This record gives sequence, structure tokens and C-alpha cells, in this order.
Amino acid sequence: MTAPATLRVALPVPLPRLFDYLPPPGLDAAAVAVGARLRVPFGQREVCGLVVGHGQAEPGVELRAALAALDGAPLLQGELLTSLRWLVAYLHAPLGEVLAAALPAALRRGEPLPDITRHGWVLNEAGRTALPAMRAGKPKALAGLLAEARAEDWLDESVPGWRAPLRTLRERGLVERVKAGSEAETGSGSLLRGSEPDPVPFSANTEQQLAIEAIRSADGFAPFLLDGVTGSGKTEVYLQAIAECLARGRQALVLVPEIGLTPQALARFRARLGVPVHALHSGLNDSERAATWLAAASGQARVIVGTRSAVFVPLPEAGLVVVDEEHDGSYKQFDGIRYHARDFAIVRARALAVPVVLGSATPSLETLHNARCGRYQYLRLRQRAGAARPPQVRVLDVRKRPLHAGLSEESLAAIRAALDGGGQVLVFRNRRGYAPVLLCHDCGWSAHCPRCSTPERPTAMTVHAHGKRLQCHHCGHRRPSPPACPDCASLALQPQGNGTERIEAELQARFDAVPVIRIDRGSTGQRDGLQKHLDALGNRPGILIGTQMLAKGHDLGNLVLVVVVGIDEGLFSADFRSGEKLAQLLIQVAGRAGRAERPGTVLLQTHHPEHPLLQTLVGGGYHAFADGELALREAADFPPFAHLALLRAEAKQAEHPLQFLQLAKTLLAGSGIDIHGPLPAPMPRRAGYVRSQLLLAAPARAALHAALDVAVPALYAAPEARRVRWSLDVDPLDLY
Ligand code: ADP
Ligand code: ZN
Ligand code: ZN
Repeated sequence: MTAPATLRVALPVPLPRLFDYLPPPGLDAAAVAVGARLRVPFGQREVCGLVVGHGQAEPGVELRAALAALDGAPLLQGELLTSLRWLVAYLHAPLGEVLAAALPAALRRGEPLPDITRHGWVLNEAGRTALPAMRAGKPKALAGLLAEARAEDWLDESVPGWRAPLRTLRERGLVERVKAGSEAETGSGSLLRGSEPDPVPFSANTEQQLAIEAIRSADGFAPFLLDGVTGSGKTEVYLQAIAECLARGRQALVLVPEIGLTPQALARFRARLGVPVHALHSGLNDSERAATWLAAASGQARVIVGTRSAVFVPLPEAGLVVVDEEHDGSYKQFDGIRYHARDFAIVRARALAVPVVLGSATPSLETLHNARCGRYQYLRLRQRAGAARPPQVRVLDVRKRPLHAGLSEESLAAIRAALDGGGQVLVFRNRRGYAPVLLCHDCGWSAHCPRCSTPERPTAMTVHAHGKRLQCHHCGHRRPSPPACPDCASLALQPQGNGTERIEAELQARFDAVPVIRIDRGSTGQRDGLQKHLDALGNRPGILIGTQMLAKGHDLGNLVLVVVVGIDEGLFSADFRSGEKLAQLLIQVAGRAGRAERPGTVLLQTHHPEHPLLQTLVGGGYHAFADGELALREAADFPPFAHLALLRAEAKQAEHPLQFLQLAKTLLAGSGIDIHGPLPAPMPRRAGYVRSQLLLAAPARAALHAALDVAVPALYAAPEARRVRWSLDVDPLDLY
């Protein structure tokens, strides 16, 4: 056998193929490992790709030489690389793009690996001698701790303000800085250790015990659905399962929804587990993310808690994967590589041969179906833990009732009573802005987005800033509100309906003695903003108004009343998943009430009190709803009883998406799968692009994938594809 002469490289470009290069000058191809990054020329650009194989030079084929090999050892390898190849086949996406998506941005760009050596401080000889005679005070307290080496990140977490007394100790020559694992570090590997874990604050109840026991006794890959009502102690089950996993010397990965990764939640994990807990979320900068990813790869990170993209961390010593709130929509990536982090977590757990726990109070119908069919072990927590009682839910019929910024007088009276009793109130409205529509009362004109509207289907612009500004929530287009109606010059322009801003104004005017805080993407940009608001409120009486950002996370100890406003539009949405999403949202929001010892009340305002979804949900809870909904899905051949893929295309000119999708239809014809369309998308125009789609369905996944295996490569190659922006969404979460 001859030695390999060329490198096969996956590049982050939207083409379903690999590229061959000669090794960088002066290097043998064999010296560059599969899974290492390579900087290469590509057209006029330089890009960073990943080596996925070696090959032989073919006579007559001129190859360009790579510019530089960036890693001595593979960055992607083993189980992760294998699982990513599975993902490529499942999503029918280019390998280069998938591998790039799996790497943290800094590494994807080709930046050098960050130094993840952990440092700490320890008393030196002089320090140990001086310690007993030191005067009491902060330096002495710190010196006492540093009798044993302590990591800097441990000190950051455990000893706020430690750097000032450290300076004193350094000036007096009593301490030295050490690397983890170095000889100077006293005790074996103590820098890698956290603090002593807090003791378990209560004994697990019977259902929790059964769940913990089931997970503990799992051998190899074992998927679990932990189906527990809000506040039933699911997190407690995760914590004990993770502690068990750590005790066996294994790593744990915990996925949480975008808004669930609160400082509160992290602090709880850190206090209980007694090892450094690495967080991975959008609030970190690129080098922090790269460092965490690498710490996982090196085995240094034992527990990684992260949002969607944390599903891509390497886990060389994996022992457990947890997906909290597995039904949450933020696990699905909506552009680029359209993966679902929960589903990929299951794939990885299988490849890693470890248990995976999916937790939720409102499991997705897919997961529930899998549990009921016996594909997942079904663990249930039916009761709230400790002394907390389930909230009382009431449907408030607001037909013919006067409304004030959308709130009925009964709701306002309940808010008043809750505040008078010293409690906190949450008003939930899933609409940002001041009002959803700006209407001319004289002629009927209303403000539409010029970039998203068609003559048949106008898209309203949302009113913001108390009426002064208009903004399209679909494309971001903004402009000042017109001073007069553009059609009839009337000054009678009126905001119609209520967004969170308007409700805030109304409640501030009525309840001026208490804090009224609005929480939505408009008011709470940065991720710590919400926590600051909540910390400032503490346990005092007050009102929170918010969108679904408030539906989870952040325990509010004193929350006694939840008022849900304006759910009616969700009751009549055409999307097949809208009922499921609304039911989940209502249960999750309701679950915020009464988590402490005080009982909670939930008021659901509606003009459709007889609607079956509300009736079922209030009468029988989420599982009654799910029973009915699963039956409907089965009758209509929708997931989880069929498998879908959605091919979307958009272009400035209406005929181009249609031509592209027509081609796709031709390519897929005869494959035995159901093909619906091409049809205009439910939102047929966005940001100036005309949008169409082709829906594919099959009772079995294999048939769907076989058809796509044939069609997708041909689509990449087709001239029709160059005139559109297109994407394939396997298992779409909605059909928009
Ligand atoms: P979930 O994750 O299901 O919403 P948590 O794990 O956050 O629930 O638990 C809800 C509350 O109940 C927390 O304050 C937690 O400390 C407490 N708790 C959990 N398990 C028990 C238990 N066995 N006994 C008493 N309190 C518990
Ligand atoms: Zn008018
Ligand atoms: Zn728009």
C-alpha cells in the first residue's frame, strides 16, 4: 500500500460534497489526522475545513495545496464524529456545514485552541508557617482556605471579592500560583474538585425514588421520559442521577431551554454537585464557549449544562444525558442546520451507550407516543413535591364584559386582592409591543408591512412605543407611525388590541403603589436582565407582565395569581401543532403559580369558554388533552403517526420558488411518499421574498429518507436552485 498523498476535506459551504487538497507544503498527508482542522484556499477565499479522510493523487488531476494544518490531534473524533455523520444523513445536509455547526464559532473560524489549564492558589512554605500567627481578617480567612490549593474559578464562585485579600497575601510572599495537576498542588487533583456538595435537603418521595432507581439501574443506552407535573421535583431527580453518574467517574450533559438556564438554576446545580459545573449558553463570548467545549473534550468538565448547541460537546467519558423541558421549541434550530437537540441527544446517548432522561410536565406528543409504545421507559411524578399544592385553574368568560387593556374587571379585582394579600401576580400575554394593529377609525385603513404583505394576505405591523412606532415582527422593518391616515388623512388612528406594553401602562396606572415589571424581548435584552428585575422585586408584592419568556425558569416564591390574556388567537390557528403548543404554554404558565406553600390561582380569560381545548385541559389536564390530540393526529396521518419533511423556497420573483419546487416534485415522484404542493407558504411573503413550499409525508421514515437521498443531491446540482433560497426541514416543528 502506498502512503496517502491527499487530504479529503469537509468545507463549510452549501454543497453536498467533499474537496481534495494536497497537504500543506512540507507536511505529509499522513501526518494530518482525520478530525483535525485544515486551512485551505477555496476560490478567492481562505476557509477552514475538517479533514475527514485521506486519498491518493490521481494522474491528470491538479489539486491545490492546503495552507496550514491547525491541529496536531483530531478535534472531532470517535462517537461525536460518528453521530454527526448520522445527522448529515438524517438532515440531508452537507457534511462540511454540519461539522462546522458542531464546533464553537472560534474553532470553526480556525482560531487556535484556547488554553484551558486551570490555575489556583496555595500557601507556600512561608505561608504555612505564618498562618497560625496571622491577625484575624480577610487575608487570614483566605489563607486558611489556601492551606489546600484552590482553583481560581472555585474562588470566583465561593469567595466573592477574594482577589483583594489575595493581593495582601502575595505582597507578603505567602502564596504561590499553581497549575492543576502540577507538583506544587497539594492533595491529589484538588484543583479539579469543587466544594463539598450541599447535603440533599429532603428525602426523595416514593415516585422520585422509583425514578432515580430506574435511571441508576439502567445498563447502557436507555431512554426515559420523566413526566412530572410542574414543581414535582424533576430537577431533584436529575440532580441525584447526575451525582450518581459523577460518583461512577462519568460526565453528564444537561440540556435546558434557552430561557431555562438561569443563574438560579446553575447555582442549584453547583451547590448540590460539588464539582465545577460548566455552563454553555448564548451569554458567553466565543472564547468562553470554545474553552468549555474543549474542557468537555479533555474530560476536565464533568457536568455541562447548556442550551441547544451544547448537544454538540464531546463527551469522552459520558455517563448520562438529561434533556429538561424536552417539549420546548428552542431545541429546534430554525435556520442553517435544522437539527433538533432533543432528538440528537437521543442519538448520541445511543451511540455513547448511556441513559438519556427527557423531562417535562407537558411532553411533546412524539415523546409521549414513544413512551406509551414502550420505546421509552415511562417515569411519572404525579404530585407536586413538598408542601406545594396544584394551582386552581378557572376559565373566565369575558364575552360582553368591559375590558381594560384586555383585562376584565374580574381579573383586575383578583389582581387587587392578590396584591392586598401581599402576593405577586403574573400577567401573561404572548404579544410584544403596544398593540397588534394600527387602524384608521374613519376609513378602515390599517398599517401593513410593505415587505411582508401580499394583496390577498396583508401582514399587520405591531404598534410600539405607546403608538409612536410601527414594527414588523416578521422581518424587523420599522418606521414611525404616520401622523394621519395615508388613505383619508383622518387623525383618528387607533391602536387596536393589546400587547404587553399597553397592559403594562394600564396596570401601572391602576396599581401605582407596587412595582409593575414588563418582561419580554423588548424590555429584557440581555439574559441577566430578567434576573436583575426579579432580584430587585424579591418577595415584595408586585406585578410581572410578560410573554412566554416568563413561562418557565426563575422561581417566584410569592406568586399567587396568574392571569392569562389573549389566548383566543391560538385556539384557531391552522397549524397542526398549534393546539399542542398552546396546551403546553398554558400548563407551563399555570405551573408558575403557587410553587411555594401559598396556594395559587390561574385565570384564563377567553371569548370561547366552550372551546374543547380549554374544556379538556381544565377538566382533565395535559394528559387528557394529549389523548384527544393523539387520536386526531392518528386519524389525520400527522406526526407522530407519519413523518414529515418540508421543502421551502423563496425568491424575489414568484415563479422561481415554484419552478424549483416543481422540479423537486418531479424528482420525488414515484418514490411512494405523499407530496403536497407546491403551495404558497402560510406566510406567502416575507422581507420582500415570495415563499412557497412542498410538504412530504410518509408513514415510515425509511421511505422518506430513501426518496430524499435520491432527490436532494439532484436539487443541489439543478440550475433552478441557483435562483432561490431553499431549505429542507426534516421533522418540521411547524409548517410555516
Ligand atoms: P420541577 O423540576 O419538577 O419543576 P423541582 O425539582 O424544581 O421541580 O422541585 C420543586 C420544588 O420542590 C423545589 O423547591 C424543590 O427543592 C422541592 N422538592 C423537590 N423534591 C422534594 C421532596 N422530595 N421533598 C420536598 N421538597 C422537594
Ligand atoms: Zn383613513
Ligand atoms: Zn415585515
